[in-house]
Amino acid sequence: MSESFDVVIIGGGPGGYAAALYGAAAGLNVAMIERDKVGGTCLHRGCIPAKELLETAAVYRTVSEAKEFGVLVDQPGLDFSLTQARKQRIIDGLFKGLSGLLKQRKVTVIAGTGSLGPDNTVIVEAADGLLSQVHGEYVILAAGSVPRTIPGFDRDGKFVLTSDEVLELQKLPASVVVIGGGAIGCEFASMMIDLGTSVTLLEGLPKILPGCDEDAATVVLRSFKRRGMTVLTGVAVTGHTPNEDGVTTTVHYGDGQSIVVNAVVVSVGRRPMTDNLVQPGSGVGISDRGHVEVDELCRTTAPKVYAIGDVIATPALAHIGFAEAILVIKHILGEPAMSIDYGKVPWCIYCNPEVAFAGYTEQGAIDAGYEVVVSKHKFAGNGRAMIVGATDGLVKVIAERKADGTGGKILGVHMAGPWVTEQLGQAYLAVNWEATVDEVAAFIQPHPSMSELFGETVMSLTGRGLHG
Ligand code: FAD
Repeated sequence: MSESFDVVIIGGGPGGYAAALYGAAAGLNVAMIERDKVGGTCLHRGCIPAKELLETAAVYRTVSEAKEFGVLVDQPGLDFSLTQARKQRIIDGLFKGLSGLLKQRKVTVIAGTGSLGPDNTVIVEAADGLLSQVHGEYVILAAGSVPRTIPGFDRDGKFVLTSDEVLELQKLPASVVVIGGGAIGCEFASMMIDLGTSVTLLEGLPKILPGCDEDAATVVLRSFKRRGMTVLTGVAVTGHTPNEDGVTTTVHYGDGQSIVVNAVVVSVGRRPMTDNLVQPGSGVGISDRGHVEVDELCRTTAPKVYAIGDVIATPALAHIGFAEAILVIKHILGEPAMSIDYGKVPWCIYCNPEVAFAGYTEQGAIDAGYEVVVSKHKFAGNGRAMIVGATDGLVKVIAERKADGTGGKILGVHMAGPWVTEQLGQAYLAVNWEATVDEVAAFIQPHPSMSELFGETVMSLTGRGLHG
C-alpha cells in the first residue's frame, strides 16, 4: 500500500519547494519528490550562480576603474576557478538553509523521479531503479524546465555550451558566439565581455531583449557595443564546424557568413520538463509545446492536480513559481485565491546595465487601446549615479493620459541602468496597486539615491517637475 499525504509535489525547484514550505506552514502533510537537489534550476544552474558570476564581472569593472576614484591598484587579473569556488559556497549555503527549512517544517523529501499515474498516485523511481508509490489527496506538478537546443548545435560541453555548462566553466573562453539575445543570453554576454572574452551576440529577431521596452533595450545595446561586443540581429545560425586545431570552431550564420570562436553559448530558451511526468490515465493534458495545460488557478485537466512554475506556459521566472505555489496552496486550503495578472509581474535582467520593469511597454499600452503620456529621465542627471560612476540608463514611466494632458493611472515602469533590479519594488507596487501619478508623486524619495529618478519621472507627469 502506498503512503498517503495531503499534498504530493513532483519537483523541488522554486515552484515545488515554495508549495512545500507554504503548505507545511499551513499544517498540510506534504511530500516532495526530487530527483536531483532541492532548489532546482534556480539555485543550482540558474538565477543564483548566474548572478554570482555577474557580480565577479562587476567587481572586475570596479577595480579596473578604481583609478578614477583616486584608488591606485594594479590592473585586475582573473582566476575564474576562484569565483567558481565562491559561487559554489553560496549555493551550498543556500542549499543547506533550504534543506534545513524543509526538515524543520516536516516536509517529507523523497529522492527519485516521480510520475503521475491515475487517481493521484505517484510512482517514484529511485536512482537504483527501485519503484515505490505515494498517494496525494492533491498533487502539484513542478518539474521545471531544461535548456532548449537548436539543430546544428548539439551540446558537447566543449564547443557548444548551454547555461548548464557555462555556469561550470573553470576558465572563460577567449572568444564566444552567444546565440540568443534574451535575458539569459544578454547576462552571459555581458559577464563575458566585462571579463575579457571577445563576444559576438547573434539574435534571430530584429532586436535584443524582446519583450523589453524599446528604450531600455537600446540602453543595453549601446552599452554592449561601446564595450566592444559585436551584436547582430535578424540573423539565423545554421551550424558549426569544429576546426582541426582542436580549440576553435567555425559558426555559420546568415547568408553564408561565418566566424571562428572558441565556444558557442546556446541561449535560445528552455523547454518544460514533461518527459514521462504523467502516465496515460492520469488525465493531465500536455500542450503541443510540451507544457502542462492549466487554467488561471493552475488547475490541470485532472481533478485535484495542479501545475506550477516552468512546467506551465507562464513567465519562466523563479518568483512566478513562488507566486503560483502560494496561489495553489491557498486554493487547496479553500481560501480566496486570486489568479496572477501575468502582464504586471516584475521582470529583472542582471546584465550591465541592468534592466527591470513591470506593466505595459509604451507600445503595448497603445496596442491595448490606452491613450498614454510618457516621461523619461536619464541617470546621467542623478547625483548618486554620478557618485557611483554608473550614469548609463534611464527610467521611463507610462501613464494613462488625462484630459488635461497630465498622467493618470501608472500603466508601466521600465528601467535600465545601475542597480535598477533593486529599485523596481516601488514601481512594481505602483503598477499593481493601480496607483495614479499624483498619488505616487506625493511620496518622498531619499536623497541622494538612485530611486529619486523614479520619483522625478513620476512627478514630471503631474505637469510639474522638480529637477527635470
Ligand atoms: P526548476 O527550478 O527547473 O526545478 C524543477 C525541479 O524538478 C528540478 O530540481 C528537477 O530536478 C526536478 N524534477 C524534474 N522532473 C522531475 C521528476 N519527474 N521527478 C522528480 N523531480 C523532478 N529566474 C528568475 O526569476 N530570476 C533570475 O535571475 C533567473 N536567472 C536565470 C538564469 C539562468 C541561467 C537560468 C537557466 C534560469 C534563470 N531563471 C531566473 C529562471 C528560473 O531558474 C526558473 O524560472 C525556476 O528555476 C523555475 O522553477 P521551477 O520550480 O518551475 O523549476
